[in-house]
Amino acid sequence: MTARIIDGNALSAKIREHLAERATALKVSRGVTPCLAVILVGEDPASQVYVRNKVAGCEKAGFRSIKQVYPANVEPVTVLAKIAELNADPSVHGILVQLPLPKHFDSEAVLEAISPEKDVDGFHAENVGALMQGNPRFIPCTPYGVMKMLESEGVKIAGAEAVVVGRSNIVGKPMAMLLLAQSATVTICHSRSKDLAFHTRRADILVAAVGKERMITGDMIKPGATVIDVGMNRYASGPNAGKLCGDVDFETAKEVAGLITPVPGGVGPMTITMLLTNTMESAERTLK
Ligand code: NDP
Repeated sequence: MTARIIDGNALSAKIREHLAERATALKVSRGVTPCLAVILVGEDPASQVYVRNKVAGCEKAGFRSIKQVYPANVEPVTVLAKIAELNADPSVHGILVQLPLPKHFDSEAVLEAISPEKDVDGFHAENVGALMQGNPRFIPCTPYGVMKMLESEGVKIAGAEAVVVGRSNIVGKPMAMLLLAQSATVTICHSRSKDLAFHTRRADILVAAVGKERMITGDMIKPGATVIDVGMNRYASGPNAGKLCGDVDFETAKEVAGLITPVPGGVGPMTITMLLTNTMESAERTLK
């Protein structure tokens, strides 16, 4: 059996097209343009690419964006003052600080300085709490994208055995909460879990968010399962050395799974799409 592939690029394009229509409608009817402010500290090349893609995503959808770049040695107080200014600006609907921040920053304090009403990454403690209570304001973008993928494929979540591998605050934990909110029976695995394969083989829905090149192999997957690969790794060696790959060994997994996301072209494109969705929802909320 060969699994059906969930095409993140196609779904992403469809959602972004709809967002562009909503942005135009908001402009025409209310004179409001959704606006995302992105703060980047330092010159980390990966962060620069992420920020560039976020700004480009805004432009393409007809959103306004503000990009504020600081050198790596900037004083945290300067960044906090900028966040306060953006918090107070009613034309700004979303604010995000690109992580990781340099070591002299207290990242948690910076994230908490963002107004919870503009926290489009969904990392503020108030928004994490709201998600836990089953009443989310902003859903963290990557797990939000995964839920959209499951929805678009009509995957049955209620009653399903869902196994999330990884327990980070930005992917694993919110992912588990979202699946639980839709009545899956959720298991969260991490680096101290004993016999990972025992858990993954029971999963009707398996989400891998670890950061380890192709660690989930076909023999660890239940036949017919839905396999979502969040991992973004690089082949360490071999003919594909340096190329992008996931946490799932796609070649063996696709022979066992029923549905599977590829890397690249799976979850990756959905993350910025859901950031734009959160910004749009924030702009619409301010007009209610
Ligand atoms: P973190 O490093 O924050 O978390 C990794 C998690 O994996 C931890 O909970 C860790 O456990 C667990 N883990 C590590 N080794 C094992 C193991 N051998 N068995 C089981 N669990 C293990 O990573 P993130 O959550 O930030 O990201 C995970 C992956 O997703 C990365 O590849 C990242 O690049 C990618 N990513 C992709 C995005 C996208 O848009 N597609 C967005 C965000 C991330 P423990 O807690 O015990 O240490």
